[in-house]
Amino acid sequence: MESPRSVRGTSRRVVLVDMDDTLFDHSLTCRAAIAELRRERAFLRRQPLEQLWREYLRQLESTWATLSPTRAAIDEARRERWRRLALSCGATPSEGEVAALSRTYRRHYQRLRRPVPGTRALLAGLHRRAPVVIVTNNERAEQEEKVRFLGIGEHIDGLVVSETVGVGKPDARIFQAALRAVGARPHEATMLGDSWANDVVGARRARIRPVWFNRFGVPPPGRGTVAELRSLRPSGPAMRLLLGDDGPAPRAPRSRRL
Ligand SMILES: [Mg+2]
Repeated sequence: MESPRSVRGTSRRVVLVDMDDTLFDHSLTCRAAIAELRRERAFLRRQPLEQLWREYLRQLESTWATLSPTRAAIDEARRERWRRLALSCGATPSEGEVAALSRTYRRHYQRLRRPVPGTRALLAGLHRRAPVVIVTNNERAEQEEKVRFLGIGEHIDGLVVSETVGVGKPDARIFQAALRAVGARPHEATMLGDSWANDVVGARRARIRPVWFNRFGVPPPGRGTVAELRSLRPSGPAMRLLLGDDGPAPRAPRSRRL
């Protein structure tokens, strides 16, 4: 990572960007890891893969809003997800078995990880024109490892993680910490992220312009007009949208899709 560059004027934007399921393909890595675990544990085959996967992601999303971002709380949340998934399959594993499930899942997850297509090219293009800061909920060590895995360290100016800040998205304070890291003000920034609840709502709370990364083309889950990106391919319109040269967000239609 380079040292932060200052923001000059108001036309030059700072790009804040989420990590999981925006740059790093958490969802499909998760699906592949659960599929692997399901091949090894017969009781998990009582539920379809799709159902286990969606339930895992649902629990993950619902936990982050209330989770204390400490190592112990994160480890317990990981075990709790497997406790519940096992129960949903009609199994009641011991605490030792729950811990083993959680550990084995993590091992598969690490082995099967992958970037969201376009990640490096997009960040390289953005970073030539503006400071780029990753804003993410998780443990710092894990997110630093993802930066290394993705090979994007040279294209970012900062990595702001909930474990370090003490609060996670959608709390406005984590976005404010990211702005401070590059000496920027809210109106100079764009926040790109896949989570409506964390990235879109959180950015709005911090008075930052959100761009929703809607990779799977689902309907907007919340109210309000928001600019929308469906691919990280660094096209001209995508770059203008993220760098804030694309004018104000439209009132209609409901969203812009690139
Ligand atoms: Mg995300």
